[in-house]
Formats: sequence, C-alpha cells, structure tokens
Amino acid sequence: MSNFPIDTMSGVDPVSIPDFMSPEGMRALQLTKLKKLVKTCYERVPLTRRRMDEKGVKPEDIKTLEDIKLLPFMMKTDLRDEYPLGLTAAPMSEVVRFHCSSGTTGKPIVICNTKNDIEVWSDGVARSLAMDGIGKDDILQVSYGYGLFTGGLGLHYGGELRGCTVLPTSGGNTDRQLMLMRDLGVTVIACTPSYFIHLMDEAQKKGIDFRRDMKLKHGIFGAEPWTDEMRERIECETGIEAHDIYGLTEISGPGVASSCGCHEGLHVFEDHFYPEIIDPDTLEPLPDGEWGELVFSTLDRTGTPMLRYRTRDITRIIPGVCKCGRTIRRIDRISARSDDMLIIRGVNVFPSQIEAGLMSVDKALPHYHIYVDREGDLDNLEVKIEVTSETISDDIKSLELLRRNIAAAIQKIINISIKVTLVEPNSLPRSEGKLNRVTDYRKIKK
Ligand SMILES: [Zn+2]
Repeated sequence: MSNFPIDTMSGVDPVSIPDFMSPEGMRALQLTKLKKLVKTCYERVPLTRRRMDEKGVKPEDIKTLEDIKLLPFMMKTDLRDEYPLGLTAAPMSEVVRFHCSSGTTGKPIVICNTKNDIEVWSDGVARSLAMDGIGKDDILQVSYGYGLFTGGLGLHYGGELRGCTVLPTSGGNTDRQLMLMRDLGVTVIACTPSYFIHLMDEAQKKGIDFRRDMKLKHGIFGAEPWTDEMRERIECETGIEAHDIYGLTEISGPGVASSCGCHEGLHVFEDHFYPEIIDPDTLEPLPDGEWGELVFSTLDRTGTPMLRYRTRDITRIIPGVCKCGRTIRRIDRISARSDDMLIIRGVNVFPSQIEAGLMSVDKALPHYHIYVDREGDLDNLEVKIEVTSETISDDIKSLELLRRNIAAAIQKIINISIKVTLVEPNSLPRSEGKLNRVTDYRKIKK
C-alpha cells in the first residue's frame, strides 16, 4: 500500500485504488511485473526465447521500463502460427478457460486463462464499471455474445465482481431483450454500439420510449470502433450515458481500458496491461501525445502471456492527468484499426471518418455500409445510408438535397469524392455481434 497516496484515498472505492496510484509507484510496480513476465516468457515460451536469443537479449538485461524496447514484438500471426497452444506458459492443470478469437482467414487464435487471469480480467471490468459510477444497485444486462468471444463472459464476471445484478441475455432475440430490460428495470446495458442502435430501432417500432419506459442509465459499448458523433446520437435519443470500453481477446477481453465520466480518452488499467505507442513503420517507441500503433504487455497474465503485442489499433497516449483525478494514463478513443484502413486512389480512409461525416447530418440513420470497387485503374467508394421511412417518402428534390449534404459532409473529412446512396430503412445488414461495415470488392475479386 506504500505506493498509494493514502491521504487522498479517503472516499475512493476500494476497487478503484490502483487508478489513483502515484506515477512513481506505478512505474516501480510495472518494472517488477515486467521483469517477471520477461523471465516467464523466456523460460516457458520457445518462440520468445528464440527471438530474444536472436537479438542477444537476456531477461536480466531488463533493468528499466525503457529497456522494453530491446524485446521482440508479438503479433496476431504468431498466435496463428503457434496454434493452438504453442504460446502457453502455464501447465494445462492451471488453465480454467479457453477463449478464441476468429481471424479473417484460417484458424482461430486460442488464449488460455488461468484462475489468476480471469481475476485480473474481471478486475479490469469491475474498475471500468466503477469508473462510470456503476455498482451494486445496478442491474446489468449483458447483451454481448456469450461463448468463445470475450464480450459476454468478460462483462458477466466483472459485473458480478462489482456486485451488479447481472442479466445474461447474450445477443439475439431483440423482443425478449427489450421486454426484460423494461420489466426488470435494467439500468445498464453492455453490447456493441451497432447492436444498441438496433435495439433503439426496434424499441421505436414498438412505441417504447427509452426515457419514459425504461430505467436504463448507462451503456457500456465496445468491440467495434465507434465515434464521438455516434455517442452523441445515442445519448441524445435515449437519455443514457454511453461509455467506451476497450479490450481484445489476445490481452484478456473487454476491460483493458475504459472511459471515465470526463469522456476524454480511455484510462488504461496499466498495473495489469503495460501500454506503448510505436511507429508502425520503424517500430520505435513514440513519446506521449504522438499517434501510432498501440502495443500491450500483459503484466499479470500467466496462461498465455503477451510481450509487446501489436494490437494494430491506432491511438496516442494523452499527456497530462485527467480531470477525474485518476493517475493511470489514458489512450485516445480508438476510432481506427490499421487493418481497417482503406486505400482509395492512394488516399488513406478510415470507416470511422465516414461515420463521423454522416453522423453530422440530421436525418441520416446510423445504419450505413461502405462498398469499395475498382473499375479499370480507378477505385470507387460508395456509402449506402438508411434514412427514416418518413424521409424516404419525401419528394425527390429534398432527398437529393439530403444526399448531397451527406456526400459533402463526408468529402470534407476524407478529401476524395464519394458516391452516396440513400436506401430504405432496414435494408442494410444488421449484426448481433461485431458488425462489418465494409465490403471491399477489390479484395474479393483477387
Ligand atoms: Zn478520467
């Protein structure tokens, strides 16, 4: 406890105490844990040992946190290449649960969780909930899918640890979701932002008004990149507070980082998950404030420990201390994965930029799909956007004006021309898990 500024700790929820550690205390704790992690990986993970030997690095060379830059990276391809259990550091007798994450091609990746790993993960989720003011008086509906995907069970265990009453609806069966939400007085929902928007649409069709008929106060949204514009839209239409939770199966699951009430980035639970930002081209660490690829080392994981795992997510560490008083560092909202980047006529375009543009126009529903194709040497970018049934019955002139306004708003952000098509409500794909909003015919045709 000597690491904590005890005099400022009065009134702090015990689960949140590490969020307020002194930076010096946090660095010392991280260094101790990092040394242990490196030693474990060197001794028990043949791939890490081989790569460290190739670089001529031994565990005892890690004397400061900066020395982490001497260590090799891990990537998703390593998890695939070492499928299923080549990166496991604990004996199977200590592993209590598998989780898998599907890849775009081939075999899934498998992560082993020990009892300790589940506790660390649940701690991250419980601290995320505490950060949003959610506690034992709350009823938490977990509408993330349960199963190999970490969303459902992650929020479930973290919610119970926090003392919430958990309603494990999992995904699907929207009618029942809405009925239970209303009848049981659910105050918090956890799901993907696109699924919540689907719930909003279905509620509207049934004449359910979130403000009037529901007790819902918070949404814990993650597993998909989403924008501040989408958050504002959700909050404005339902009266709930929308929170951002971040995580990935390779590192544990949801609860690696979370937004606080200030909504200025996401606090990383860095006593468990050590963050770095690197230049994705040179692989050199970047100073706080600069944008680059997010890399994590799992300081407490014992089943499948990750050393310098490249997440492919683009963000930065926000300099300075948050207004909420938490000293754990913040990453900026993740609105782009480097894997999601589209190169259109030589210009880098992220789906989140398109979302930000269209959300700035009234009457555009938050349902859209992006299509990319190539004719000859020219890339074509088309966005199909649903509009309300009232809008679609407007006269052709107003529809054309709306279409042009949306195209202009998006073009202002991405700086290339785009085709915008307005489509009927409920005509675009929906998803109860992670929603893929892009169809790139250039890749399909290859
Ligand atoms: Zn904060």
